[in-house]
Order: sequence, then structure tokens, then C-alpha cells
Amino acid sequence: IPGHAVSPGRRPPGCSFAPRCTFAIDECRAAPPAPVLVDDRQVRCVRALEVRSAAVAARAAVTGPAADGRPPALSLRAVSASYGHERVVTDVDLEVPPNWCVALVGESGSGKTTLARCVVGLHANWTGEITFSGTPLPAKLRDRPEEALRRIQYVFQNPYTSLNPRKTVGQIVAQPLEQMLGLPYRERTERAARALEDVSLSRDFLSRYPDQLSGGERQRVAIARALVVEPSLLICDEVTSALDVSVQAVIVEELRRLQRERHLAMLFITHNLALVRSVAQHAVVLRDGTVVESGPVEQVLERPADPYTAKLMADVPRLEAAGA
Ligand code: ADP
Repeated sequence: IPGHAVSPGRRPPGCSFAPRCTFAIDECRAAPPAPVLVDDRQVRCVRALEVRSAAVAARAAVTGPAADGRPPALSLRAVSASYGHERVVTDVDLEVPPNWCVALVGESGSGKTTLARCVVGLHANWTGEITFSGTPLPAKLRDRPEEALRRIQYVFQNPYTSLNPRKTVGQIVAQPLEQMLGLPYRERTERAARALEDVSLSRDFLSRYPDQLSGGERQRVAIARALVVEPSLLICDEVTSALDVSVQAVIVEELRRLQRERHLAMLFITHNLALVRSVAQHAVVLRDGTVVESGPVEQVLERPADPYTAKLMADVPRLEAAGA
């Protein structure tokens, strides 16, 4: 719903959202709606069911699988990965259609980072098939075509260790432009400044060093560095877990906007189920290296079929509990 909530003294007689809600009808403006039960939740909306199905349909229309028959941005088939002889990921199938955000969730140690590292070529000890836009990716980074290196970007978990402390923000963000595209200095700097603006940082940041930035600003710089080469697939590995909660929400909102505006495919790795709903359309749940559940976010979060997912859900802090 666009706009801002009205202040308490100026609430309309009916539903407070009515003046800004495109679903509002006369009944909504007449009196505050009575609570109704929708999937175990109490909702004060006379059109709750219609609103919900319209929202799901709209999201699928914007972000659904490419109708033009394009292959998935990322596809994993029977991928197993090991460290030495110890297998930590077994037979994983996973697909990220173009323009979709797929969340990969699971407890710490379930193999999420290992899978991400296989996809980006940082871990080569795997079997199975990984394809990017329909083309199989070799396991080793050095065997991959330059185009694939550029178009798949990885944002790491910890912005305190992922940025070189001896380089300025300008050098950090512009570096991939020099390495991958060989652009001249002036153009690199200009593009770096634009990438910073894309993540809501002014060009004044170009000359700063990482230790002069907050955690949230550092993570924005890391995202700008990933986006500057115009990738089509972004792997975000626990990108908010090193940040405090208020900053997490802002970064997630920023990523969502970028994903929408740039039609990015995104694999969003997290152990935090509360984040999944706000960012992804599809969720894949990993336990001890195997997929235990996969499906649309609403289905996985609201009606988990696997007891492990239900347990993960039960661990998500709830507002009612906090307020009790
Ligand atoms: P997650 O990202 O879900 O926390 P990881 O992919 O980091 O999980 O780890 C999966 C399993 O692989 C864990 O049991 C972990 O101990 C093991 N592991 C991770 N990195 C290494 C490594 N470099 N060498 C050996 N085992 C590792």
C-alpha cells in the first residue's frame, strides 16, 4: 500500500487503510472491519481472500518463469559436493528461473555456502550438473568463460572481511570493471559512482576507506561491486547476518528493489526464515546437505510438508510471543 499511515487523530471511520487501498469498497469506509480467520491468522479486511490471491497472482506475473521459453538462469541437477572424501551435499536439484528470487534455507552447517561456492566456481569438488542460462558450467573457475564469470556475482556474508581495507571504495567497486571489462580509469570511476548511487550511497563515498563505513554501508559497497558488471544472477550468502536488525531490513528492501528493476535472478541464502517471505518467491529447504522441501514461499512457510521445515518455522520469533 503506497503512502504513509495516517496519524492516530486523523484515522477515517472505517478501515484505516481504505484511503490508500486499491481494493477499498464502500463497506471498508463505513466501519472498521471485523476480524476474520485466514490460514490461522486474524485479519481485519473485508476482502482478505481476494487481496491475497490477487497479490500472489501479481507477483507471479511480474516474476514468474519466463514465458518466452528462456532456460532457467541457474539449474542444479543431482549436485553432490565434498570436502576431501567427506560428502556434505547430496543430490541437490534446484532451479532459479530468470527474474526470480529463490531462497535457500537451512540451519548452519546444512551445506548452503558449499552449494553457493560450487555455483560460483570457488569449490570444485562436486559432481552432477550446474547450468547457467542453459550452458553447463565447468567446476573450476579458471575453465569458465569470462562472460559467465561476469554474469554470476556473489555477495559474501561478512562485509567486515570481504572488502580490502587498503583500497578506497572507488577502487573496490571499480576493480571488476578493470579486471573483467578492461575499461579506462575515467569510465570505471563514473560507473562505480553510478553503482554506489544504485545502492543509495553518494559519490562522496568513492574516496572513503572501508573502516570509515558502518556495517550497512559496507554491505551496500559489496552489493555495488557485484552489480557494477551488470550480472544476471546474484548469489547472496547470508548478506544480512552480520548486520543489526534495523539495517537488515533496509538492505533486504534495497536488494528487492534492485532485483525488480534489473530483472535479476537471485539465489538468496539464509538461515533466517523471517527474511524469506519478504524477499523470495520460491524456497528450497536444505537439511544435512539434502533438499527436504521446495516450493512457493507461501506454501513452504505456511504449510510446511516436512517436519524439519516446521521446526525451523517454529524457531522464528513471533511478535505475539515477544509482546506476551
Ligand atoms: P552452511 O552454509 O549451511 O552453514 P556449509 O556449506 O558452510 O553450511 O557447511 C556444510 C558442511 O561442510 C558442514 O558440516 C561444515 O562443517 C563442512 N565444511 C564447510 N567448510 C568446510 C571445509 N573448508 N572443510 C571441511 N568441511 C567443511
